[in-house]
Amino acid sequence: MIRLILPFILVVTGLWAWSLATSGGPWSVYDQGLLLSGWLSIALLSLTMMLALRPAWLERPMGGLDKIYRTHKWAGILAVTFAAAHWLIEMGDDVIEAIFGGVSRLDDLHYSGLIEAMRDAAEEVGEFAIYLLFAMLLITLWRKFPYRYWRYLHRAMPALYLLLAFHAAWLAPLDWWQQPIGWLMAALLAGGSLASVLSLAGRVGRHRQVQGTIAAIGTPEPNITEVTLDLGQAWQGHRPGQFAMVTFNKLEGSHPFTIASADGGDGRVTFLIKSLGDFTRNLAHKIRVGQPVTVEGPYGCFDFNRRNRKAHQIWIAGGIGVTPFLAWLEAASAANQPAPEADLHYCTRNADQDPVVGRLQELCQDFPGINLQIHDSSKGESLSAEVLSASEPSGARTEVWFCGPAGLGRALERGLRAAPLRRSRFHKEAFQFR
Ligand SMILES: Cc1cc2nc3c(=O)[nH]c(=O)nc-3n(C[C@H](O)[C@H](O)[C@H](O)COP(=O)(O)OP(=O)(O)OC[C@H]3O[C@@H](n4cnc5c(N)ncnc54)[C@H](O)[C@@H]3O)c2cc1C
Repeated sequence: MIRLILPFILVVTGLWAWSLATSGGPWSVYDQGLLLSGWLSIALLSLTMMLALRPAWLERPMGGLDKIYRTHKWAGILAVTFAAAHWLIEMGDDVIEAIFGGVSRLDDLHYSGLIEAMRDAAEEVGEFAIYLLFAMLLITLWRKFPYRYWRYLHRAMPALYLLLAFHAAWLAPLDWWQQPIGWLMAALLAGGSLASVLSLAGRVGRHRQVQGTIAAIGTPEPNITEVTLDLGQAWQGHRPGQFAMVTFNKLEGSHPFTIASADGGDGRVTFLIKSLGDFTRNLAHKIRVGQPVTVEGPYGCFDFNRRNRKAHQIWIAGGIGVTPFLAWLEAASAANQPAPEADLHYCTRNADQDPVVGRLQELCQDFPGINLQIHDSSKGESLSAEVLSASEPSGARTEVWFCGPAGLGRALERGLRAAPLRRSRFHKEAFQFR
């Protein structure tokens, strides 16, 4: 994520520095601070809007849609941070006037007729929109705010963006439009506005949507619902480990789930869905066989075909994070390719009551190169970086693929960065978008 945002901020700031060199004068720090903070904010907000389009062509360079969403989230948070700086600077002109005297050069600019009226309107719209933007950030960061309500509020973001784009376009210095900074701004505003209109029109991801029906529903354990969908020939297939956005109910909207089955070329996909919240609780009672569904995808790059075959493989699944590994093993059974070799760690709360343990053991029977290890927390067995390091050859090149609770992923990644597995590469599927 930082690999995209950092160069982005550097380009944006670099162009700002160039324009500063050709201007200057009293109050220039104030004026330029106001312009820079506003410019960074709208530039990042435009990027946020464009990333929200779920651009499939960016998946490969960025490592999957889950990573694109993380970048979208952080670009949005940074945009609001710069907006806050912009607002504070704007509010600080009286203080500066009291201390240094004089007036801001930007305040001194007067236009006539329509331009002046539009600039006044843009200022008012900007102030109104910025308060809504702050409120949105607070609600987003307040994790206790229910996701289903947050999603509806979040849908107002494109409208808010259009107000802020109007503010930025009218209040940017006129001479910017003849310079690269203005050209980049025009491109970003156009891209962000187009993305906003597409979002408001409900067109995001539309061309990747397929209609299907529920073919089977099972409950392998009380907390887990297994759903098989029949998507027919419209489904173009998927790579093992990819996920899809599934809409069971239009009012509820789509939820991302990893496809737990390999692609059989028959348009059938299976999901293992854990009761993790309001909608997924008692899911088996909310859906029925034959019910129409919409599936958008596939997305994601958590694909074992991308593994480095020269590196020692460590695959770690935590709880429902086992779904991509089930798809991997199923795909490896079906394909005529060299059997994979890996240490597969599965962390479960209670192995005796977990039907996934049996399924993994069955799938692994075909692969003598896969060393399955079950970590049963009810028996006090937990997986840590130390446990992993102790059982792995030190100094060897290792590749770790992790899917499971975010906290466990962070702890393992941090721990493995220390010797002796510091030569490891860590791939992580982010199961959280917000
Ligand atoms: C890439 C990816 C793959 C996933 N694969 C699986 C899987 O194979 N099996 C599985 O059981 N779970 C999976 N999840 C998690 C699953 O999407 C959530 O558990 C589910 O959406 C919760 O919905 P809810 O309404 O019951 O929960 P809520 O109580 O509404 O929310 C609980 C949490 O779930 C997440 N969430 C809720 N709704 C959405 C949504 N529409 N889009 C994105 N996140 C949402 C939010 O983080 C929220 O805080 C995956 C998530 C992601 C991002």
